[in-house]
Amino acid sequence: MLLIMIMSEAPPEGIKYVVPIKQVEKPVKITDQAKAELQSSGMMDEKGKLKMKGVSPKMLKRMKLEAVDCPVLSMEIGFLQCYVCKNFFSRPMGKVYCKGNPL
Ligand code: SF4
Repeated sequence: MLLIMIMSEAPPEGIKYVVPIKQVEKPVKITDQAKAELQSSGMMDEKGKLKMKGVSPKMLKRMKLEAVDCPVLSMEIGFLQCYVCKNFFSRPMGKVYCKGNPL
């Protein structure tokens, strides 16, 4: 029984949604609000170029082609926008742990 509980990998407390990350052919546009958030947290310069600490340009390129169907906003969101969202908790194994609070 204990083994089954460990294997089921229940999300941590406070996580409302486990959202699968999907591949897209074209990067999903980052909304103006998310751009402002990225800029204020120093992850994007004024020209709109992304600079994320610990994320290589190669990884960044790959992340631009990832998206989630956001259960809170009920729309497709680029992974980078999801990554900087205040509901983002972590990204284990191709999924986003989302706190699911209203935005
Ligand atoms: S972390 Fe934010 S953008 Fe990502 S799925 Fe949750 S609410 Fe949507």
